[in-house]
Amino acid sequence: MKTEPDVIIIGGGLAGLTSALHLLKQGLQVTLIEKHSYPRHKVCGEYLSNEILPYFSWLNVDISELYPSYIQYLNVTTQHGRSVDVKLPLGGIGISRYRLDNFLYDKVKAQGCKILNAIVSRINFNDDTFTVFVQEQALEAKFVLGAFGKRSNLDQLLTRGFIKKTSTWMAVKAHYSGDFPDDQISLHSFSAGYCGISKVEENKINLCYLTDVKTFKKYKNIADYQKYVLSKNIHLKYFFEQNVLLFDKPITISQISFDRKSIVEDHILMIGDTAGLIHPLCGNGMAMAIQSARIASELIADYFIGKITSRKRLEIDYVKQWEQNFGRRLLFGRILAYVLRYEFGANVLIKIAATFPAILKWIIKQTHGSAKKIK
Ligand SMILES: Cc1cc2nc3c(=O)[nH]c(=O)nc-3n(C[C@H](O)[C@H](O)[C@H](O)COP(=O)(O)OP(=O)(O)OC[C@H]3O[C@@H](n4cnc5c(N)ncnc54)[C@H](O)[C@@H]3O)c2cc1C
Repeated sequence: MKTEPDVIIIGGGLAGLTSALHLLKQGLQVTLIEKHSYPRHKVCGEYLSNEILPYFSWLNVDISELYPSYIQYLNVTTQHGRSVDVKLPLGGIGISRYRLDNFLYDKVKAQGCKILNAIVSRINFNDDTFTVFVQEQALEAKFVLGAFGKRSNLDQLLTRGFIKKTSTWMAVKAHYSGDFPDDQISLHSFSAGYCGISKVEENKINLCYLTDVKTFKKYKNIADYQKYVLSKNIHLKYFFEQNVLLFDKPITISQISFDRKSIVEDHILMIGDTAGLIHPLCGNGMAMAIQSARIASELIADYFIGKITSRKRLEIDYVKQWEQNFGRRLLFGRILAYVLRYEFGANVLIKIAATFPAILKWIIKQTHGSAKKIK
């Protein structure tokens, strides 16, 4: 009996869990390795674009079981309180990562996937086979999917370009109780970043902001930062005054890099944030993580049924499809982030959007995919 898995997936976030579900559905043997346990909160805006719904349905994943919020409208404000509302072309779902990742994890587990709760410390590729080192074990597999997120010990090990540069971006997230429209996501600019607010399950409100470390460090703590910097935007001031923090304290991450990353490295197919992170203000990183998992998994499944006959072909096809699907989104994400960074740019954008809402809708479409049916 064969004991080695066909595929080892490193990282059990959205990309890793989705690819595990896909590959298991195709009858492949999969080992998933995740260093943390479930459930746990993650720094994320928790707005999931509806573009993933047909694929989730193909995977037999029904998010409605989690009672998410259904979001249809976007409200954008500038630092000085200018505001515009637009109906989202596709819309999305508000669901916490605490619930969503755990939901997918339960499904992966129920399908008999071997799951290791451990940290991968090394990966070797020799004689067309991977050896993945986890604690005292050395596991072998034909393919490895790198789903280890924005920044990991493995990026250092693989000496990936982006890891050598320090990033100036950090993010803060917390849940609140209070009053907020069920069907709206708000994106508020402030002098040093952007803050997204929307409802998730159980009427909770998720607030998550991206900011630069230099400005943040000038203040003693998060409460002061929110009071003296974020609250200069009147909409955020009102939010902090009216709503009650549900966490003991907000959670934070730093060193968030938007640099280009390699899609394939040492024959490892990178998926999700490991392949590249879109600017969070596009609200599309989760969908990209899920869609990249689909692309990589489809190609691996094709390899095992003999439709793709060499590793080289598979890698070339993966890079090509990744660029076709996400290259343009990343570019638009960067441009949008640049424009909104400056009060002048944000004002111009909002003025244009208020007069011609179709333009804002067009911009949103450039950073999102479509809800294509899966064959
Ligand atoms: C501030 C902010 C707001 C955002 N808001 C949104 C939003 O509203 N909507 C949206 O769609 N996207 C948003 N995103 C993007 C989204 O969060 C990510 O794109 C998404 O989480 C990517 O999923 P992933 O599976 O690639 O990575 P992750 O979810 O980070 O999973 C990676 C996993 O790998 C594990 N791991 C790492 N190293 C190892 C190792 N050596 N061994 C074993 N396990 C390992 C980690 O523990 C982790 O669980 C936001 C991002 C940021 C920074």
